[in-house]
Amino acid sequence: MARDRRKRNGRRAGSFRTCVGCREKKPIDELLRLVISPEGKVLPDLYGRLPGRGAHVCPDIKCLEMAVSRNAFSRAFKCRVQAPDPVELCQAFSKSGIERIRSMLATAARSGWIKAGRDAVRMSIRKDSASLIMLAQDSSSALAKQISREAERTHVPVKRILTKTELGKYHKARPLAVLAVTHRGVAKRLSKEIGHVLSLMVGSRKGSKLYSDHNGLTASDDRGMMPQTQASA
Ligand SMILES: [Zn+2]
Repeated sequence: MARDRRKRNGRRAGSFRTCVGCREKKPIDELLRLVISPEGKVLPDLYGRLPGRGAHVCPDIKCLEMAVSRNAFSRAFKCRVQAPDPVELCQAFSKSGIERIRSMLATAARSGWIKAGRDAVRMSIRKDSASLIMLAQDSSSALAKQISREAERTHVPVKRILTKTELGKYHKARPLAVLAVTHRGVAKRLSKEIGHVLSLMVGSRKGSKLYSDHNGLTASDDRGMMPQTQASA
């Protein structure tokens, strides 16, 4: 598995692809990859491991919809494809993104790269050891404001995703309103993944209740708190 990831990162590092929806050229790791089945079905490449020709798209339902309406997948794969459902694709991608977020959090927790709770998080910001702060979606707005203000001073990104119960799974199994990730590489990957998931969830919600029913899992895109992710919001 580690090898796959390395291979994936190696393949992805430094290259650019054009989104089949908006036609913008972007770094490959900011795009989602889709492949085609032998039956002409467009499939999401959820783990970046499927072989064959790929088409790339921004993690945004608008780009998926544009790609479908312009028949861009047929052009990208140079064959006739069955038009995929953009909402279904959003759901599949965000679900696999959440799996990755959970697995990264579990690794970070096991490795001691997490500071949990308000005081520990504030201390890690002051000591400059926090690389990413995750606020529970149901954390109080007073806490969110305080943490965001302090994180902003040291340019630590703050992401708001998952509930207190969900975040608590990575620390003593008790509800947790805020945590800081101290490993820079893990924080960077988490940050990117969360950005993708938040933007895909907007699309997922358009056509389905899946995410409101999903183990109490919710996400919010708090623009005031995350100026660096506004572009994908
Ligand atoms: Zn796009």
